[in-house]
Amino acid sequence: MKKSTTLLLCFLLTYCLSAQTPHDHGHSHSSGRKITFPDVLGYKVLKCDFHQHSVFSDGSVWPDIRVQEAVRDGLDVISLTEHLEYQPHKEDIPHPNRNRSYQLALNSAKNQNLIVVRGSEVTRSMPPGHVNAIFIEDANKLMDDDPVKVFREAKKQGAFIFWNHPNWTSQVKDGMAKLTDMHRLLIKEGLLHGIEVVNDKNYSEEALQIAFDNNLAVIGSSDIHGLIDWQYDVPEGGHRPITLVFSKDKTEDGVKDALMNGRTVAWFNNTLIGKNEFLVPLIESSIVVKEVTYSSKTTVAHITIENTSDAEFVLENQSDYTLHLHADIVNIKPNTTTILEVKTIKALDSFNMKFKVLNAVDAPKSHPEINLQFEVK
Ligand code: ZN
Repeated sequence: MKKSTTLLLCFLLTYCLSAQTPHDHGHSHSSGRKITFPDVLGYKVLKCDFHQHSVFSDGSVWPDIRVQEAVRDGLDVISLTEHLEYQPHKEDIPHPNRNRSYQLALNSAKNQNLIVVRGSEVTRSMPPGHVNAIFIEDANKLMDDDPVKVFREAKKQGAFIFWNHPNWTSQVKDGMAKLTDMHRLLIKEGLLHGIEVVNDKNYSEEALQIAFDNNLAVIGSSDIHGLIDWQYDVPEGGHRPITLVFSKDKTEDGVKDALMNGRTVAWFNNTLIGKNEFLVPLIESSIVVKEVTYSSKTTVAHITIENTSDAEFVLENQSDYTLHLHADIVNIKPNTTTILEVKTIKALDSFNMKFKVLNAVDAPKSHPEINLQFEVK
């Protein structure tokens, strides 16, 4: 009896201690592994992964695993986009109904706060290469040898259509995304609405330029075939690439409207990529100035900054003030507070500083600038 009580106490003590031990993987999440960004500009900032595979094409998992991964990552919207034409598992999993993966995922997400949209990957040689059509009504109707007919059918069904990995070296040897005449035709006919600037572990500066030049939505997706945890080292603090969608509400219609109007930012490898008009408010809302004080007798301002997002911001000081604790580069760690000390020479009531955000991209080789306003207490 006594021995078992001691054992129980030992167990409880160990359990409590381990429960309190901070698991620092270089990426401290207040919300565990869930990806967090604040809502801005009156929009909900939805976390979306619109390009994923299961055993119903060339993926390695059943659709419910995709749903469980998405819930763990705190995603709002996913699409399982099985290759219509590439069916390597069909001997084992005959797949006469190309909507099956969607139906299984939808059923599995029934009691989750997760939107599953119906999608398919149209899988062709270049041009046009691979594209995803999402928000479709029936994947089976997208089976046609003529790719342009498939695009037209997808449009008829109300699809948002985006070009997948335009920089894929299996289709373009130099890894340089470039428009062909067919892509120009598709864009002209309103049959192409977005482009993957990020696919899995690849980023394309050229695709970003194509997006801006042709008014296509910037998309970032995982294109996951195996497991998210293994592919992106999630237990070590990694994250899958996603598209942040600035949507009026958390509904399918809201997301589609946002995509059609290009209100997106890609989140990839701790880098935010998109239009300046969305990046700057997103970053300025993520960085919250909590307190500004001068310690007695000095004119060095002591500033507490809280980062409410999952991004570790790398800021470069653009102002004339110099810093007391940092060189001109400041790392603002995610989901925690950072102390800045600024030498303002005189004690001020308020001041502001401009920083370039090195881990955000608002055009090829260009980083947005944010303004932080400091009100001294
Ligand atoms: Zn794919």
